[in-house]
Amino acid sequence: MTVFDFKSLDSQAKVIIGRYEEPRAAMLPLLWLVQERAGFIPPEGEAWVSQKLGVAISHVREVVSFYTMFRTKPAGKHHLQLCMSLPCLLKGSGGVLAQLTERLGIGAGETTLDGKVTLSTVECLCACESAPMAQVNERYVGPLDAKSLPEVFRHLLEEPHTPARFDEYSSFHVSTGGPVLSKRFKNAEGTWFDAYAADGGYEAARKALTSMTPAQVTEEISRSNLRGLGGAGFPTGKKWGFIPKASSKPVFLVVNADEGEPGTFKDRYLLERDPHALLEGMIIAAYAIGSHKAYVYIRGEYFRPAARFAKAVEEAYARGWLGKKIQGTGFDLEVVIHRGAGAYICGEETALLSSLEGGKGYPKLKPPFPAISGLFKCPTIVNNVETLSCVPPIIRQGAAWFAGLGTAKQGGSRLFSLSGHAARPGLYEAPVTVTLRDLIMNQAGGVRQGRKLKAVIPGGISAKVLTADEIDVAMDFDSLAERGTMAGSAGVIVMDETTCMVEALASAARFFADESCGQCSPCREGTGWILKVMNRIRRGEGRDGDLEALLSAASRMEGKTICVFADAAAWPVVSYITKFRSEFEHHVKTGTCDLKREPSHAHADH
Ligand code: SF4
Repeated sequence: MTVFDFKSLDSQAKVIIGRYEEPRAAMLPLLWLVQERAGFIPPEGEAWVSQKLGVAISHVREVVSFYTMFRTKPAGKHHLQLCMSLPCLLKGSGGVLAQLTERLGIGAGETTLDGKVTLSTVECLCACESAPMAQVNERYVGPLDAKSLPEVFRHLLEEPHTPARFDEYSSFHVSTGGPVLSKRFKNAEGTWFDAYAADGGYEAARKALTSMTPAQVTEEISRSNLRGLGGAGFPTGKKWGFIPKASSKPVFLVVNADEGEPGTFKDRYLLERDPHALLEGMIIAAYAIGSHKAYVYIRGEYFRPAARFAKAVEEAYARGWLGKKIQGTGFDLEVVIHRGAGAYICGEETALLSSLEGGKGYPKLKPPFPAISGLFKCPTIVNNVETLSCVPPIIRQGAAWFAGLGTAKQGGSRLFSLSGHAARPGLYEAPVTVTLRDLIMNQAGGVRQGRKLKAVIPGGISAKVLTADEIDVAMDFDSLAERGTMAGSAGVIVMDETTCMVEALASAARFFADESCGQCSPCREGTGWILKVMNRIRRGEGRDGDLEALLSAASRMEGKTICVFADAAAWPVVSYITKFRSEFEHHVKTGTCDLKREPSHAHADH
């Protein structure tokens, strides 16, 4: 048995701990260090982290067990994690799982006897444009179809073999000509400093730092009607204005790059293809709120996006756009990249801050809001990647221009992630006034193979589902709210006439049951109960009263918990059952599904 000695990592640990205001905040990076060294986190690794951070070993253990990416036993040389979230399920991940299981001779959660391959199923990896997809170690693979699967098997089983199709997304639509965010997405290998600067990059930051006061910057962002594009839609300028004017404590800017909402993959493109746009937005935002330290919390599964963003940060330091006295002005800004480790709930801002402070990703009751008491109990603004990437064009071209692209209450354009049964899935930038019909039927080429549209989720899996008759609606926050759903993260999941709504809701139920942090009993028990009943119905064992039981469980969750996760878990239940009631009743009554399914729709029982 190998006994690991982590002492050789002491000097690296010292540098990492030095980046944080409090040592325990270095918890996740040190655990990543241990896992990189040993391949998993052995007890002596937990002991080493506990000693380095001066925290109880039980606390380290608790944290390790909270995050899905930390392993307490070794994995195979290749760890294949197959996404089973709704967008992948719609494209046949159930069938792919069956093929993987048969060819590898192992089930999910197992490793081949020769130690070559570990197979796992996971929730959304946020690459839904290439569904069905998986992650092999640090690389994304997809779509897993008849052409690519033999290649994947060769890579897994017949080394040495260099995979040809890994990380290939070119067959999907990627907007490259949008007015605000996607101009530089044509650079698939990333837009680096010189190209960014040649395209007017950092002019806005120079303008803000040299000719505007922080209050003027905030005012300009307010007038632009920029809203929080992570999903909440809160006015950005108003949020910045909540920072106390004369705080004796340091102020932090925290970037939420923990993209995890099933059906959403926009922030991944921003980090990979235009990282300096985010950095420039961060400089301007930090200046406006009086912050000299920014943390960027990037989801653990995003290895390549994090590496690309780290390269941009390095370039910005080298060119004098980060660090002390930026460009000779008196403004300082340090940036620290912090990696998550697999927990959807960390996308909720208070959970993200708990995680960043070195704990489990537990949401906190609000108030106090982070702007008053956030990271390390200091005033903190948490903004999403896309929101901050909009800031430089607003400062450069003016609030009126940005506001004019949208509605009276929401300016600009958005990145819409289209997945599921869209004929041309991918990332589309469009003004927020675009209708759902236009996005699906015109821009994304309609429904695959000319089939009929059945349902659409307009804003990530948490949003209430719309029927095919309800897609004449603009995609701004307010129009979708009036329609009884939400714009959320703008993850549009398209479902055609072959979709079984019971399966679709069961998939959402599994996701929410897996991802509840478990602090509140209505959420912990409610999501578990909903999943149990949904699984019963999809197995053909539904009982009289099941639908009422589901609706009643949902009603006991909404508005009764620490964070809105429980509400988000309840909304799909109510909307699916209400809008597709006869289909649910049929399942319960007959124990069967009448939809003619293709082999690719095979269902994974897990
Ligand atoms: Fe955790 Fe759910 Fe409570 Fe949110 S609502 S704090 S996810 S248990």
